[in-house]
Amino acid sequence: MKDYYQILGVASDAGPDEIKRAFRHLARETHPDANPGDPSAEARFRDIAEAYEVLSDPAKRARFDRGETLEFGDLFSNFGSLNDLLGSLFGGGGFGFGDPFGSQAQQRAGQDLLVTAEVTLAEAAVGVDRQLTFSAPQACSTCGASGAAPGTNPEACSRCRGQGAVQVSRRTMLGTMATLQTCDHCHGRGEVVSEPCPTCRGAQLVDESRELTVGIPPGVNTGSRLRLRGEGGAGPAGTRPGDLYVEVAVASDPRFERDGDDLWHRLAVGVSEAILGTQVEVPLIDGEPMMLDVPRGTQPGTVVRVPRGGMGRLNGRGRGDLMVDISVDIPAKLTAEEEEAVRRFGALRSEAPAEGRSRRRRR
Ligand SMILES: [Zn+2]
Ligand SMILES: [Zn+2]
Repeated sequence: MKDYYQILGVASDAGPDEIKRAFRHLARETHPDANPGDPSAEARFRDIAEAYEVLSDPAKRARFDRGETLEFGDLFSNFGSLNDLLGSLFGGGGFGFGDPFGSQAQQRAGQDLLVTAEVTLAEAAVGVDRQLTFSAPQACSTCGASGAAPGTNPEACSRCRGQGAVQVSRRTMLGTMATLQTCDHCHGRGEVVSEPCPTCRGAQLVDESRELTVGIPPGVNTGSRLRLRGEGGAGPAGTRPGDLYVEVAVASDPRFERDGDDLWHRLAVGVSEAILGTQVEVPLIDGEPMMLDVPRGTQPGTVVRVPRGGMGRLNGRGRGDLMVDISVDIPAKLTAEEEEAVRRFGALRSEAPAEGRSRRRRR
């Protein structure tokens, strides 16, 4: 006989809270959908669920403590109750995984929706509230979401007697079990409509335009997806709405190149500025430009780091940096006066520039 205390890793005098905590932890680890392709995970998950089913119920726990043999049938006679159990522990559908026990009721939910939010690079750096307008299925107001034409009423489905589901026997690894299957006559609604509502044509839902303001967090990138639980399409009466996914598209900014959380800005200074030093305006992603000191004798390729001048971090605190990549703009064409000055400078430095004027232009 299995030792349920050992399976959950708790002492035999563990209290209800401790048992619940241990179950929560182990169930997340071993949930079949978290371990695809690993059949032993499913077996472990069932053991853990079974152990919890027994130890969380004072009557069953007492029988187990007395050493009585508990039949599987006692425990899993109703898969629905285990789903309810998971739902109550992890919040409505909050397991984050598919439902391993195939509950039909939970699959009847509203539609998940995907909308795109376009933001500038500056908005992506610090976050922004974006108002989104999108079309989403809503309860039809003409028929009050019954699907029946005004003045008529839906009738109870004759096949499932209004239950929305029919019982079928299924052979499983735990023995033969009675499970519920969605009624295919009424598609799980439990009722049928003889005269459909003219607005929704019996679908109970109509597409309506919705507005929602969504907080786009700092640090998003193109392709980042936000999930807003329950903000998707309405489902059939009595079911939960779907989720809204917001996919972000970040526009490029000609002033900056993004490298993870850092931004790069290319800055060109003149020859005399590189030699003697200067102050240059450098754009910042989220405010007024700053004045950057370019020291005397700055070499081409020098990179100056401006701490926290980059993007906000999506999954953490702080910000990336701004990297200013300095190049030196060597003029390709000179006036006679400029050339004379450069030649004088070269002579003073004992350099040997090519003779003759503007050789390039003569070619
Ligand atoms: Zn039915
Ligand atoms: Zn309607």
